[in-house]
Amino acid sequence: MNLVLFGPPGAGKGTQAKLLTSERGLPQLSTGDMLRAAIAARSPLGLSCKVLMDKGELVPDETVIGIIAERFDQPDAANGAVFDGFPRTIPQAQALDKMLAERGHKIDLVLELKVDDAMLLSRVEARIKAGGVLRSDDTPETLAHRLEVYYKNTAPLIDYYRQQGKLKAVDGMAPVETVTAQIAAVLDAHTA
Ligand code: AMP
Repeated sequence: MNLVLFGPPGAGKGTQAKLLTSERGLPQLSTGDMLRAAIAARSPLGLSCKVLMDKGELVPDETVIGIIAERFDQPDAANGAVFDGFPRTIPQAQALDKMLAERGHKIDLVLELKVDDAMLLSRVEARIKAGGVLRSDDTPETLAHRLEVYYKNTAPLIDYYRQQGKLKAVDGMAPVETVTAQIAAVLDAHTA
């Protein structure tokens, strides 16, 4: 089964993807994590993306399409995966459909975590208050820009997947366990 976790920055996609990995054995394919790993490894690809990521801009479609295809070809994704933070544009979604079709796969469901802007901002503020290691793009200012980018480039995917009959909305404002339970109910209904 291939799932897309969809939603604005800070909606909880990563948290839910990790739970899906532990509960359903589907690997989490997070383009953000892959790009941060490339930056940490000081690879040319990572360094070329760092400036864009720090500003909250998207990196080029070809870059993420390339890394996601390479990652999907690892043996642990043979039975599917959870896509987290990818696709983020219509061309990425089209490339993903093509890449999966070429491998005899398809997207089964797209789980849209719905969280309003005020809650996304209060989550960033809470992380800053709590201290610890923060991502360089995890600030109120960068969040505002990341949200602009989300509504302009990524939100159109909601219609793309709705038209394919794959979109399922989940209340991402609920506590983590409640979100997890909602997702489990959607998946169970789908497989029943
Ligand atoms: P994330 O961890 O998913 O919030 O991603 C962090 C940053 O990595 C984003 O703000 C973008 O700069 C970049 N990024 C991650 N995934 C993508 C994607 N699918 N398309 C373009 N840029 C991405």
